[in-house]
Amino acid sequence: MNSPAIIPEVYYPTIDTMGNYVDKPSNKQMHCGCGSKTLFDGTTKLRQHFKTNIHREWVILLNLEKNNHLSESIKYKSLCTTQQKIIQQQQQKITTYEVSMEQMQTKMRLYREETFINSLD
Ligand SMILES: [Zn+2]
Repeated sequence: MNSPAIIPEVYYPTIDTMGNYVDKPSNKQMHCGCGSKTLFDGTTKLRQHFKTNIHREWVILLNLEKNNHLSESIKYKSLCTTQQKIIQQQQQKITTYEVSMEQMQTKMRLYREETFINSLD
């Protein structure tokens, strides 16, 4: 039996005290969120990757769009709350239908028993 594959984490820059995205190397095995296909397995390799143009441009873009990230985060929180309410409503409907189905099955069983007893008369 195969063991489940371990999916490496994805690296994203952290936010400093000024609210800017900055690189902070990690010693975990991870891919970089900039789109690089390399699997980094140490701070040295990750630090070297931080100096590449594709990674530097990605961090610059993240910082240019950081205000959008906040508004998107707020939008997704609201969407999540709405979807949780919808899921809860759907769950209540399912529970109601399950109770109704059990009641109908009981009625059906009683009807069959009664019909069977009447057929013996
Ligand atoms: Zn990168």
